[in-house]
Amino acid sequence: MIKRKGILFVLSGPSGVGKGTVKEALLETMDDICLSISATTRKPRSNEVQSKDYFFVDLKEFQEMISKDQLLEWAQVYSNWYGTPRDYVLDHLQKGCDVLLEIDIQGAMQVKNKMSDAVFIFLAPPDLDELARRLCSRGEDSQESIDLRLATCEAEMAHIKYYNYVVENNHVKEALEKVRSIIQAERCSVNNIIVG
Ligand code: 5GP
Repeated sequence: MIKRKGILFVLSGPSGVGKGTVKEALLETMDDICLSISATTRKPRSNEVQSKDYFFVDLKEFQEMISKDQLLEWAQVYSNWYGTPRDYVLDHLQKGCDVLLEIDIQGAMQVKNKMSDAVFIFLAPPDLDELARRLCSRGEDSQESIDLRLATCEAEMAHIKYYNYVVENNHVKEALEKVRSIIQAERCSVNNIIVG
């Protein structure tokens, strides 16, 4: 029988590109991938549940996680801190399960330095006008914050070269199909087979 390693998939991209939507759609259609739940200092939104959407912690608890080396990566994303609990990821990979991270680009670059076998997928906006429209329509950000995210996006696009795949998110359904295909292809890659 062919055995393969657990694969770490990192879905990343600029703020407002639709990472969360693609991730949710992916999890609805694939039950054989484990989602890593991040820790954050952000306050929960009305529809969010503690320990399901995030581990909502205060800054002191977050700093403690850093000092105890419990985070695989962490970054300040605009005004809040976010980080990936290390043990969940390593334990599941060790058991041969595939793990999905949905994180920002700074975090993805840290994972890249630590886990070069991971598969990095950059979700890109069709263009800046469409990104501006999406950021406006989600109604979470001030004009100042939208302008900052658009300016940051231009710099973030320069990181595409460090990723394995780029998927343009024109339509969620198409982007989802592409991400699913990438996952299936990686699962068939001989690089991920355990030999012997
Ligand atoms: P939101 O607050 O809208 O849920 O997420 C804001 C941003 O933080 C998104 O770009 C999301 O991908 C990113 N993010 C969520 N969890 C993590 C994490 O554990 N690490 C890093 N670096 N970014 C994260």
